[in-house]
Amino acid sequence: MKKPIKKRLCYIAIALVLIAAAIIYWPNRWHYIVIHHSAGNYGTIEFLQDVHRQRQAGDPIDAIPYHYVIGNGNGLDMGEVASDWRQENHIWGTHVSSNNRDRNFRGIGICLIGNYEKNTVPKAQYDALVTLTRELMAKYNIPPERVSGHGYTDGESTKCPGKNFPMASFMKDIAR
Ligand SMILES: [Zn+2]
Repeated sequence: MKKPIKKRLCYIAIALVLIAAAIIYWPNRWHYIVIHHSAGNYGTIEFLQDVHRQRQAGDPIDAIPYHYVIGNGNGLDMGEVASDWRQENHIWGTHVSSNNRDRNFRGIGICLIGNYEKNTVPKAQYDALVTLTRELMAKYNIPPERVSGHGYTDGESTKCPGKNFPMASFMKDIAR
């Protein structure tokens, strides 16, 4: 027996509402920001893409693991903010471990090119990071408590973004 037309219209309406909700939710779901360093002195989008291809061969998301990278003058310009189609399409990241799946799904990953376990963060690069982080916090309504350094996040055991990354002053600078 055919379903009554009214019932079918009702199903279509429900489907449209769900699709609309998903379209609104997807690009606005960002809940965390996680800061990283690349641990290498050189970096461009293409370079990080190659690193990702080697580390996670077969990942169908053939993009850099982060949403944004900030250059150190070696590859990208000093303080230059770059991103690829992961960020453009609001795709989840692969920048923290599976202990923090939600920070991969709803966390924006920002990576500073450089090794801040060995070197100190150049001021121009640091300033670009503060500006970008503050913009993203304002855009997605993310409070400072949900911004963290990779290794400062519960469940993560890594030195990233390096012992010389000025975590305490960064938290003050983004909260101002
Ligand atoms: Zn990291």
